[in-house]
Amino acid sequence: EPCSVDRIIAEVIDRSRTAANAKEIEIKALGERGLVAYGNEGQLVTAVANLVENAVAYSPEGTRVDVESGATDEAVWIAVRDEGIGIEASDLDRIFERFYRADRARSRQTGGTGLGLAIVKHIATNHGGRVDVTSTVGRGSTFTLRLPSRSSEQG
Ligand code: ATP
Ligand code: MG
Repeated sequence: EPCSVDRIIAEVIDRSRTAANAKEIEIKALGERGLVAYGNEGQLVTAVANLVENAVAYSPEGTRVDVESGATDEAVWIAVRDEGIGIEASDLDRIFERFYRADRARSRQTGGTGLGLAIVKHIATNHGGRVDVTSTVGRGSTFTLRLPSRSSEQG
């Protein structure tokens, strides 16, 4: 069904507020307003929430996390950008696997299970979309979730 991207992002930021406040991380919503994505709103919230949870978990205190939305002809995208520890190039193609955690994350003892991104990828794929990442160690990471902007049944 059609879902308000603004509402998804507001709900995600709301959920992450406590964790972000504890690290004095500011989460900001940026970009285009009034976008509509097709899919299950609860699942889409779960997907974006996992990305924002990671952004907060793998960033030092006092940094910022941006959640930006936008659209092309075919897709609506939501990008979560952090100023965190970053991900080694050699880990980038494995982080979407179940239970995979990069050494950097493990050494910080953030205590995750390594399922978050596998869930994000699963939800993206189920919606006919995808999730991509770019990252620089010591600088930060950007995860982008792309979703079809109209229902596939409507052609
Ligand atoms: P879980 O989400 O199940 O609690 P997790 O966060 O370790 O545990 P994923 O969310 O799947 O698992 O992430 C997998 C790994 O990818 C993380 O352990 C970490 O190494 C790396 N990672 C994910 N997001 C980021 C990020 N924003 N910055 C740096 N590393 C990240
Ligand atoms: Mg995670």
